[in-house]
Amino acid sequence: MPAALLISDLHLTGERPEIVERFFAFLEERAARASALYVLGDLFEYWIGDDELGPAAGDPLARRVAEGFATLSRGGVPVALMHGNRDFLIGPRFCEASGARLLPDPSVEMIGGMRTLLMHGDTLCTDDLDYQAWRRQARSAAWQNEFLARSIDERRRLLQEFRAMSKEVVSSKPADIMDVNDGAVRQALRDYGLTRLVHGHTHRPARHTLEVDGRRCERWVLPDWYETGGYLSADETGPRLVGF
Ligand code: MN
Repeated sequence: MPAALLISDLHLTGERPEIVERFFAFLEERAARASALYVLGDLFEYWIGDDELGPAAGDPLARRVAEGFATLSRGGVPVALMHGNRDFLIGPRFCEASGARLLPDPSVEMIGGMRTLLMHGDTLCTDDLDYQAWRRQARSAAWQNEFLARSIDERRRLLQEFRAMSKEVVSSKPADIMDVNDGAVRQALRDYGLTRLVHGHTHRPARHTLEVDGRRCERWVLPDWYETGGYLSADETGPRLVGF
């Protein structure tokens, strides 16, 4: 059985064309030979609604990514997609166009012969209270309906405001507040009775080991693609992190 590949935090945007090309090369050269592709959030730098797919005011990159996934799934590699904190408005139209299955956060999937807990990772950063408050608001149906009802130009303008605010807030926070909370990690593994967790979001790729209720557990953190990028490859022999 070929390995399943897991990626996250690509933050794809037309503003970083070299990462975009690396991503499409990854789809053609590596993901095409995988047993499955899992995208654990923040595939896009931002997503203001499925009308990114056009035809009126869309982003050509969005269509190209959807087509890349559709080619993979037609070739027999199922693609599963989880929302991140940047692209949580990816909706049914993108899933249909890409053939990707939308995964709830958290999800449990059989990967490399082992039941594995998958998360984007932002919900584990419980020390960041401002962020968690914003997340609750932005994930509510009321906020999303109101946002999506605005024109695409208005949504883009609001997004610039959110990004400016978030940049300011993030730069004033100590780094450890934006990492996962150890108690939240333990609780997640305990809640699902699992010993393997894979997540992204923190941009701190690593394999951590910990003991939860006497069981040896591991937490794999996926790399971001801002500078170089990489992925987790998981088969029966276990997962390994691969950098480019
Ligand atoms: Mn994130």
